[in-house]
Amino acid sequence: MDHTNSNFIRNLIKKDLETKKRDHIVTRFPPEPNGYLHIGHAKSIVINFGLADDFNGKTNLRFDDTNPLKEDTEYVNAIKEDVEWLGYDWDGLFFASDYFQEMYERAVLLIKKGKAYVDDLSQEEIRQYRGTLTEAGKDSPYRNRSIEENLDLFKRMRNGEFANGEKVLRAKIDMSSPNINMRDPVIYRIAHATHHNTGNTWCIYPMYAFAHPLEDAIEGVTHSLCTTEFEDQRPLYNWVVAECEMEHVPEQTEFGRLNITNTVMSKRKLKQLVDEKVVDGWDDPRMPTISGLRRRGYTPEAIREFVKETGVSKGAGEVDSQMLDYFVREDLKMKAPRTMGVIRPLKVVITNYPEGQVEWLDAEINPENPDMGKRQIPFSREIYIEQEDFMENPPKKYFRLFPGNEVRLKHAYFIKCEEVIKDAEGNVIEIHCTYDPETKSGTGFTGRKVKGTIHWVEASQAIPAEFRLYEPLLLKDNLNEEEGEEKDFLDHINPDSMQVLNGYVEPTMKDVQVQEKFQFFRHGYFNVDPKDSTKEKPVFNLIVSLKSSFKL
Ligand code: ATP
Ligand code: MG
Ligand code: MG
Repeated sequence: MDHTNSNFIRNLIKKDLETKKRDHIVTRFPPEPNGYLHIGHAKSIVINFGLADDFNGKTNLRFDDTNPLKEDTEYVNAIKEDVEWLGYDWDGLFFASDYFQEMYERAVLLIKKGKAYVDDLSQEEIRQYRGTLTEAGKDSPYRNRSIEENLDLFKRMRNGEFANGEKVLRAKIDMSSPNINMRDPVIYRIAHATHHNTGNTWCIYPMYAFAHPLEDAIEGVTHSLCTTEFEDQRPLYNWVVAECEMEHVPEQTEFGRLNITNTVMSKRKLKQLVDEKVVDGWDDPRMPTISGLRRRGYTPEAIREFVKETGVSKGAGEVDSQMLDYFVREDLKMKAPRTMGVIRPLKVVITNYPEGQVEWLDAEINPENPDMGKRQIPFSREIYIEQEDFMENPPKKYFRLFPGNEVRLKHAYFIKCEEVIKDAEGNVIEIHCTYDPETKSGTGFTGRKVKGTIHWVEASQAIPAEFRLYEPLLLKDNLNEEEGEEKDFLDHINPDSMQVLNGYVEPTMKDVQVQEKFQFFRHGYFNVDPKDSTKEKPVFNLIVSLKSSFKL
């Protein structure tokens, strides 16, 4: 199902092409390199690249790097890697900072036209003078400086004669506009800082609202797609393009942000989780970052399908994280080999099985995809089962192992629990069972039935493995409030978001590669961790469990 087939942005582009308003389309994905991409960005990526693809257009990857204080080359590289991993190729790769000279010249043009002025008010004073929704703004005492004086002061700002915050350049628009964004917005500020791309060439930097429309115009972007919090800035966007006399006129259209339950979706908050060591880096598998999702084991296909299913609309609203899980299960169902792993091991000795004997059993690699063939797994006198598959005093309807009861070992035999071995404190440390050779899997045995089938791993050839089980990072929904009125999301961290367990996997897992994905029988889908896995001890990250009540 592809809901992006018809949406208001697609319809707009179609109309623009039909009416010949445009003869081609250019979109852009414009991240600020001040953090790693999250799944919200994936939505913007899918929309921008997807629409351009559908209309034979082009999409640029543009780093919106106009703030030297927060940006870093580490983020630039991570963003490129993530966009490629999601499956997209950009046409042009640009840095907004490469346009600083042109932006400067356009600002000078505004001054010459009497459309911009240097202001000496402080940031706080500017805020006070700006007024409110119900109260008009007040003119700055510097608003009527002469063009000559403004040109001179702006040049001196650029030459580094003033300290940070001493002066700004403001657009001269309308202090009584009902749209506060139009009340003489600041378009340049002083920042004596080293920029990741331009070094120390500049000490004045354009503000987003001035820079972004110019970037779009310079690159020939036709449809500048952004999220709805920029809707109020659209008049300013158009003002900048027009007053700066840009030859190409891009147009801004807004769509609703993607938010997901039980997580936060803002680079600033995600950075806080990293800086305060709540998580182990941007690519921690609990993070909603693209790199975190990749390390957890989500696939690009699942992320793209999920994002498409959320649709394109003006509205925001939270999407249930279980919907993403649904798509990764769908994607892995046919692809991921089945295997058995014991996460909390309990030793079982099969007392009537000959000592020293090992037999190899056939097991299908993926019953839903028989083309994947078969694997061979060993069976012998000692195996591991899951602790929770045994109970000494089971409740009613417990069909797994308990004294006197018989269960099926997947791909192997029926075993019956004969004896429970305990340590001095009374903890169960071993189960003694007998097996029935008649019941071998695949022989068509129908003599009697058992109600439980459990998984297991043969002990002598078992490979020790670490399992990392994950739960949501945050215990509360609606933590994606607009900036300013947000709740303290750090109060809602789930203390049990990761559980690390040591168990065993089949010897067929001897040569697993990082990022390989498996379905562990009865447990769920797991990914081989790319950072901490070793040849001796693989680490498996739980992607999703098998069952869900979620319905699409
Ligand atoms: P954040 O608040 O997480 O830092 P941002 O909007 O400041 O996000 P940018 O790097 O400026 O981050 O975003 C690049 C593009 O991705 C922008 O066009 C932005 O609108 C879009 N984008 C960011 N977050 C989301 C989201 N949750 N849903 C859809 N698009 C998003
Ligand atoms: Mg931004
Ligand atoms: Mg932001």
